[in-house]
Amino acid sequence: MANFKTHLQVASVGGGLAASLFYSSGHLTAGEAFLCWIMGTLGGLLPDIDSDNSHSLGILFGAFSVIACGFTAVAWIEIWPLAWVWGACALVFLLVQFGVRLIFAKFTVHRGIFHSVLACFLFMFIAATGAAFLGASGTTSWFLALFLGFGYCVHLLLDEIFGVDFMNVAIKRSFGSAFKLFDYGNMTTSAIMAVAVIGLFFLTPSYAEFVSILFDRDTYLTLVDGVDW
Ligand SMILES: [Zn+2]
Repeated sequence: MANFKTHLQVASVGGGLAASLFYSSGHLTAGEAFLCWIMGTLGGLLPDIDSDNSHSLGILFGAFSVIACGFTAVAWIEIWPLAWVWGACALVFLLVQFGVRLIFAKFTVHRGIFHSVLACFLFMFIAATGAAFLGASGTTSWFLALFLGFGYCVHLLLDEIFGVDFMNVAIKRSFGSAFKLFDYGNMTTSAIMAVAVIGLFFLTPSYAEFVSILFDRDTYLTLVDGVDW
């Protein structure tokens, strides 16, 4: 399987290339492209949320706890006095950093359900819904989700590629355990996640414009024609 450093490098380069494409086509502002790049990089680390490797978990839950604080602030800042909001953020930070992290470390199996396309959709829909909650347009929200999903799939593919021993043309035991649609060995968990994914989809913002951008040939013209078109 690919190691942490490989995942970080490939996801950040891939995310950067993709972000520059949509920036050059004029569909993302510089700030949005930068955020998309960060999402792509984060997505490249995200599947290893099921590993007990303290390095990956430390970075992921560091990011999660900060993001959770941001959401807490946005949700309550117009309702509560600021001092209360700060207190709530501190509580949320501790809860995610220690409580949720402990639950993940204890109950997830490495290369289980989180190394699947189903989990990728789960995180994409969470990202799209979350970005819209923070005030991003539907299109921007979906771009952020797309980059997260892109990084996620790159991670799964890398794990799969590095799980195959090309030299001996033999296939190691880990083959097929990284890139899978859902966790074939655990149907109950897969079913629960599938219900969550479907439910979350109904909360996501409008995707019509985003889909039309994605499938418009003009979006990709700057790849070969330069910006003067
Ligand atoms: Zn992995």
